[in-house]
Amino acid sequence: MQWETVIGLEVHVQLATRSKIFSGASTAFGAEPNTQACAVDLGLPGVLPVLNEQAVAMAVQFGLAVHAEIPEVSVFDRKNYFYPDLPKGYQTSQMYHPIVGAGEVEITLDDDTTKRIRIHHAHLEEDAGKSLHEDFHGMTGIDLNRAGTPLLEIVSEPDMRSAKEAAAYLKAIHSIVTYLGISDGNMAEGSMRCDVNVSVRPKGQEAFGTRAEIKNVNSFRFVERAIAFEVERQIELIEDGGSVVQETRLYDPERDETRSMRTKEEANDYRYFPCPDLLPVVLDEAYLEHLRSQLPELPADKRARFQDALGLSAYDASVLSASREMAEFFEEVHRVCGDAKQAANWVQGELSGALNRENLSIQNSPVSAQQLGEVVRRVLDGTINGKAAKQVFQALWNGQGESADAIIDAKGLKQVTDTGAIEGMIDQVIAESPAQVAQYRDSEPEKRGKMIGYFVGQVMKASRGTANPQQVNDLLKTKLDALL
Ligand code: ADP
Ligand code: MG
Repeated sequence: MQWETVIGLEVHVQLATRSKIFSGASTAFGAEPNTQACAVDLGLPGVLPVLNEQAVAMAVQFGLAVHAEIPEVSVFDRKNYFYPDLPKGYQTSQMYHPIVGAGEVEITLDDDTTKRIRIHHAHLEEDAGKSLHEDFHGMTGIDLNRAGTPLLEIVSEPDMRSAKEAAAYLKAIHSIVTYLGISDGNMAEGSMRCDVNVSVRPKGQEAFGTRAEIKNVNSFRFVERAIAFEVERQIELIEDGGSVVQETRLYDPERDETRSMRTKEEANDYRYFPCPDLLPVVLDEAYLEHLRSQLPELPADKRARFQDALGLSAYDASVLSASREMAEFFEEVHRVCGDAKQAANWVQGELSGALNRENLSIQNSPVSAQQLGEVVRRVLDGTINGKAAKQVFQALWNGQGESADAIIDAKGLKQVTDTGAIEGMIDQVIAESPAQVAQYRDSEPEKRGKMIGYFVGQVMKASRGTANPQQVNDLLKTKLDALL
């Protein structure tokens, strides 16, 4: 039997407002427990929530970025349940009239093909506090700093058909929210978490299978692994004559498996109703137009422009537009050196390699975009060759100079293109290598091309890497062939 996987994601994005969604308490990460929860967050009697306008603006910006309908009216509802990290006894959310309606996101797959994933809706809600199970023996600690942090929950249609597609979708959402600057997207700190709904069906069948929902997966890799495990589990279960039950499961990264948390029968009845403390949110066309006019160029548009206007390959365009920082860095290198392909090669090659080796993000690159652009410009105008450029890059990386030009001067890396000078070096190398010359002369003509490498290496060494490699090659060939 052939099986098909069906996946829908609910992504929770913490919005980067300075204060909470209904109070003035700070949202900064990492403060001492319970120092950033005020009377509103604690649900004390006699206080009223005030909606943070910035959270509304950010949610709408997201909606506009995914070409969603933005309804004129949205309404906050209370989702009632009891849990220690929820002091109010309900979460303020949006059940029936979310702020963002149906939209869509384009994802890019490994083979550079794209696919549209529909978004069902996105709604605003408040985050809960945190239960700390590890710090207290036999007890649970409660930290309410996170309570009331604005969340945008983005609910997809069940349009994904593989773990790879789900990861690509999550990456697309990540890049949209970070481009917009509405979230820091820091998954390790929980700024973006996702619930993964997974089901399987026999290939060709139209009806969906019963799904399991895996809660709170917080990395791209875990999303893929949790899905892989879950798909195996469901297929095995069905093939052994059983059936999948609708339930909530937990992914355990240490054991790389999912475990049941609660089944549908145990599910809460949330008794949703409109929050009487908050007015409906009414947005007019002028407000939407204002936000629309402030949207930055988004990842999909940037990718298309990199391909169409700059002539980059689909792969380069997609890598370089994946994050806003990467895109801005590349564009600055391009602006300075004037050659998109070379700029792309250097950013993805030398620079990304060095960043990966030292586990640095591009924002913390020791070599600035301006500096790298100048290195590339000096290669393009013939001042240095590719080999010397790598030395200049390394020197900039190590802080051994302020600019490419300063390092080229200080290290004497200017490319030697003077034919006389290069011929002098060649003559010397030939004179010092009688055995290799004899070997060259005695070998078959078609093998000589390969043997010339030895002489090129020697001449480059003699020039301390500064000779023009093409000239060295051409002149060597002429001189060696003259000895035949
Ligand atoms: P609920 O109201 O129980 O939360 P929804 O219909 O809102 O359920 O769906 C929640 C998420 O589950 C959505 O992202 C949706 O795409 C996904 N989903 C729904 N049905 C399936 C299914 N059979 N298989 C996989 N994902 C599904
Ligand atoms: Mg849901």
